[in-house]
Amino acid sequence: MSVSINHCPICGFKADESYTSVLELRCSYDICDCCGCEYGHDDDLKFYADWVKDGCVWFEAKAQPQGWTLDDQVRNQIRPWPPK
Ligand SMILES: [Zn+2]
Repeated sequence: MSVSINHCPICGFKADESYTSVLELRCSYDICDCCGCEYGHDDDLKFYADWVKDGCVWFEAKAQPQGWTLDDQVRNQIRPWPPK
């Protein structure tokens, strides 16, 4: 699957890096500033559901833009995740 991914597939927040494939992202073990999932480790939909249930607490609070809402970034999510 050849793509360019520059948002967290789980929560849709803009990623620090741009990834050229799903595999590259999942092998990076980078951690999303927003939802805090670690790609390739706990980047799954259960993690996302728990994160939302717990009130969308930011992993890096200082990265949170003013006036942030989850609604603005859900269009950047990738579903299903991980892709088949
Ligand atoms: Zn995220």
